[in-house]
Amino acid sequence: MLGGMVGVAVAAQIGPAGTWLPSLRRALAPRLCGPMPPGTVAITFDDGPHPLGTIAVLDELDRLDWKATFFVLGSQVRLFPDVVTETLRRGHRVELHGDDHRYLIARPPWSAAADLERGIDTIGEVTGRVPTWWRPAYGVLSGPALLAARRLRLRPVLWSAWGRDWRAAATRESIVGDLEAGDLAGGTVLLHDSDVMSDPDSWRSTVAALPLLADRLAERGLTVGRFGD
Ligand SMILES: [Zn+2]
Repeated sequence: MLGGMVGVAVAAQIGPAGTWLPSLRRALAPRLCGPMPPGTVAITFDDGPHPLGTIAVLDELDRLDWKATFFVLGSQVRLFPDVVTETLRRGHRVELHGDDHRYLIARPPWSAAADLERGIDTIGEVTGRVPTWWRPAYGVLSGPALLAARRLRLRPVLWSAWGRDWRAAATRESIVGDLEAGDLAGGTVLLHDSDVMSDPDSWRSTVAALPLLADRLAERGLTVGRFGD
C-alpha cells in the first residue's frame, strides 16, 4: 500500500514549495490528510520554532482558546529551545517536520533516516518527549524516509487544506480563502508560524488570518480539535 502511494506522490509532485494536488492525495491516501472527527478541524503549523512568529501565533491561539500542533524543525529547535518549551507549556502538541528542511527524495537513503533521527533526538532533549507524528518537508515522501519513519515509530501526516501563507503576497483573506478551497471539515489545516522557509515576516499574515478563520469555522459549525489526540 505505502509503496505504490510513494510512487504516485513523487510522480505528482509540483513546484518547489508545492506538493501534489490535495484532491488527488485525499483520494489516494485519506489517512495521510490528517482525518479528524466530523465537525472538527485540526490546526497545524510548520517550520518553527521561530522567536517572533511562534510566540505571536501562540498568543493568538490563546485568545481563540485553540490547541494546535506544531511540526518543528530540529535545526530550529536547537536555536530556540525556549520557544518549544513555551509551546508545550501552553498546552500544544510538538511533532517532527524534520531536522533540516530539504527534499528527502534528493538525499541518499541513509541521509533521510539520519535526518529523522537527529530531529527526534533534538526534540527529545528539549522536551523530554519523543515525537510520534512526522510531516515531511514540502509534503514529499520517499520510500527510504517512509521505511525509516516506520522503524522510528513516526506516523506520516500531511494536510487536507493549506493557506499558502508562505508567500509575501498572502493576506488574511487569501489565506482563509485558500483554506476554504481545501477540505476543512474533518480535516487538518496547514499553516506556518515561521518564515525560515518562507518570504520574510510571512507569519504576520498567518497570525492575522486566525481570527477570520475562527469566524468562518463558526459559520460552518466547525470546532477546532487537536491533531493526534
Ligand atoms: Zn516546511
